[in-house]
Amino acid sequence: MYLQDKKKKHCTGCRACADICPKGCISMKEDGEGFLYPVIDSEQCIQCHLCERVCPVGYDAFSEKDQTDVWAGVYDSSDVICKSSSGGAFTAIYEQLLELNYVVYGVCFDENLKVKHAMADSSEGCKAFRKSKYVLGDTNHCYPQIRDRLKNGEKVLFTGTPCQCAALLQFLALAKVDTANLITVDLICHGAPNQTLFDSYVKELEQRENSRVTEYSFRSKTPIERSVNSRSAKIVFANGSVKTVLPKDDPFLKAYYSRLCYRPSCKVCPFAKPQRVSDITLGDAWAIELLYPEWDPLAGVSLILANNEKGKGVVERIKDTMTLRSVTIDWATQSNRQLREPTEFHDRRRRFFRRWKKRGFSSAVAASTKDSLYWSLYAKVKRRWKRLMRGKL
Ligand SMILES: Cc1cc2nc3c(=O)[nH]c(=O)nc-3n(C[C@H](O)[C@H](O)[C@H](O)COP(=O)(O)OP(=O)(O)OC[C@H]3O[C@@H](n4cnc5c(N)ncnc54)[C@H](O)[C@@H]3O)c2cc1C
Ligand code: SF4
Ligand code: SF4
Ligand code: SF4
Repeated sequence: MYLQDKKKKHCTGCRACADICPKGCISMKEDGEGFLYPVIDSEQCIQCHLCERVCPVGYDAFSEKDQTDVWAGVYDSSDVICKSSSGGAFTAIYEQLLELNYVVYGVCFDENLKVKHAMADSSEGCKAFRKSKYVLGDTNHCYPQIRDRLKNGEKVLFTGTPCQCAALLQFLALAKVDTANLITVDLICHGAPNQTLFDSYVKELEQRENSRVTEYSFRSKTPIERSVNSRSAKIVFANGSVKTVLPKDDPFLKAYYSRLCYRPSCKVCPFAKPQRVSDITLGDAWAIELLYPEWDPLAGVSLILANNEKGKGVVERIKDTMTLRSVTIDWATQSNRQLREPTEFHDRRRRFFRRWKKRGFSSAVAASTKDSLYWSLYAKVKRRWKRLMRGKL
């Protein structure tokens, strides 16, 4: 655990320790890569150890893999699929739960393109949470807010990365709050870069266009010839210009999909496994066309894991608005690597961060993803060496 061993890979940046500290003596400080870590003001600390006990890196109440129901599905409206990252499962879930008077916590961009958790209690408000933002968001003090709502008898749907869901559950357990009125939805999570990296990329976009970016949307579903590339992004500038960028051309998408600048904890993520933290897990049903050829995963098909009875109850309700087909957990873990093991980082991650500081984001991405004979040989030898070592152990 980071608060004891100070190893960066043991901190997910969830901010639960800062939110739980009774003396308010933990602040989050940025390191040289732009990731935030807790710093304790030892003069004010009363040694209560709540900060260590809330940490999601020590979370151990995972679901039983064998009790998970797994579905692939699409929302029954192409407009909703188009406005969602995958097949629109999140929309189906919040629509059902709003009808039951739940309030919804999700992740949105604020007016300055900062990624953060917010609360909505209407269908219109929840639309801002649609589409993945591939940046580790600010949890924005939502853990104490949710504690207070549950104590007041309100019903809450919380969506976030698995590390954020685990942090919330630890936070509520320590506050001895009844979680019967809470539904948690986590994502199959590949890893995340940070806000400072995203800001530096946006600044470069603005300098190039000589105009402010007013809207940014990941997973914009762009028709390319007859197919669709749901990994592209849409960028809207204040001068009215709208650009759609593809991962092969855009520095941020290239960095994200080539695993160049994720948080160190993502490399050893304790949540990248079929046993889950939350009631429901959402992701992409990659390779679904092999089972159901009429579905195109690039256009967006959701993978939905109902991890316990609460999750199964919600999935029963969304059958009204989604076409769902049963798949097995073994198929899901085979076709979605993040359900088996954490992401392997790009070999040139360190080089990227060194260059980012000196030359900026785009230059660092270009230099680190350029294929040279040296680097492809280096990567090949490293992969072989790792395989060899695994065989020996
Ligand atoms: C950082 C990240 C990595 C991911 N990696 C994978 C992966 O490797 N494999 C895979 O199958 N799926 C991955 N996903 C999930 C996938 O991109 C979709 O978010 C998911 O399938 C839900 O799609 P939807 O159509 O149901 O929801 P949408 O309507 O698109 O809703 C998006 C949901 O994601 C939440 N969200 C958006 N941005 C963030 C964020 N930064 N942090 C926390 N929550 C957020 C919103 O609150 C909302 O609940 C990842 C998502 C994120 C945010
Ligand atoms: S031990 Fe208690 S007082 Fe000290 S930093 Fe942690 S939570 Fe705060
Ligand atoms: S509680 Fe969260 S922010 Fe604090 S040390 Fe643990 S992982 Fe890091
Ligand atoms: S990969 Fe793991 S540690 Fe990284 S953001 Fe996702 S859930 Fe958190």
